[in-house]
Amino acid sequence: MLIRHLYCRATVTRGLFVPTKNTWGNQDMSRPSSDLAAFRYIFSKAKHVVILTGAGVSAESGVPTFRGAGGYWRKWQAQQLATPEAFSRNPSRVWEFYHYRREVMLTKTPNPAHQAIAECQERLCRKGRKVTLVTQNIDELHRRAGSKDILELHGSLFKTRCMSCGHVSANHKSPICAALEGKGAPDPNTDDAKIPVNDLPRCQEADCRGLLRPAVVWFGESLDSDILQRVEDELDSCDLCLVVGTSSIVYPAAMFAPQVAARGVPVAEFNMEHTPATMEFQFHFHGPCGTTLPAALAPHLSEAK
Ligand SMILES: [Zn+2]
Repeated sequence: MLIRHLYCRATVTRGLFVPTKNTWGNQDMSRPSSDLAAFRYIFSKAKHVVILTGAGVSAESGVPTFRGAGGYWRKWQAQQLATPEAFSRNPSRVWEFYHYRREVMLTKTPNPAHQAIAECQERLCRKGRKVTLVTQNIDELHRRAGSKDILELHGSLFKTRCMSCGHVSANHKSPICAALEGKGAPDPNTDDAKIPVNDLPRCQEADCRGLLRPAVVWFGESLDSDILQRVEDELDSCDLCLVVGTSSIVYPAAMFAPQVAARGVPVAEFNMEHTPATMEFQFHFHGPCGTTLPAALAPHLSEAK
């Protein structure tokens, strides 16, 4: 399939797919919400649902993205700090940025969209149906809501990878190391902490002590090929695909949703964006996904039978 060759067999690099927000024109061209009952009927019959989630789901929990207008940490946006070059130039500053983001997440909670997905996943799984969750979000709010087997396209704020031995491990410590305690303030007048590299988070594997980095996919880095393959396998076998908190025509869902639609499988978008009234995607539900999704994924009458 052409899409697959374009996006999956080739190396997929973060940053290639620039969101084309609202480039299709004014609000008059926006697509009205679809018939919820029609979606609910298809949902009630689906045996294998893939749910792709994007930044919009996290935004409703108040998670900052450090992108776009006003989205600064000190003097920088995420695109300037979330790169391998920034980390090799100044690992202390980049760790301060990620330490701050980890600590902020301790004050945030999953919202009704995360909860609706987790509840639906658990409920359908009990009945022998399958719900696969694929997310671009790195905040682990889906995990905290109770979702399982999450395919994290961009990694996680709460995982680290060793620069020396490559070991990846979960890490929910607060602070992640003593030297970062109280550091990472986002105010533009804050001075860099200039933490010596030996005092930054270090590998705990025997005899390694290598420098750890956040196990997230930085701008300009390739997505994990094993995760991409697993996503592709799920998309090849699903009979319903939901795109939540992002549009199916922008990255990352644009990598996947068109190939699902091309198989004739229904794709349903839940987001705040105005999208063109394309016939490629069968359903579009406009509004905050914390509002639209719970109604869409609630138990269907037929499920009780
Ligand atoms: Zn190591």
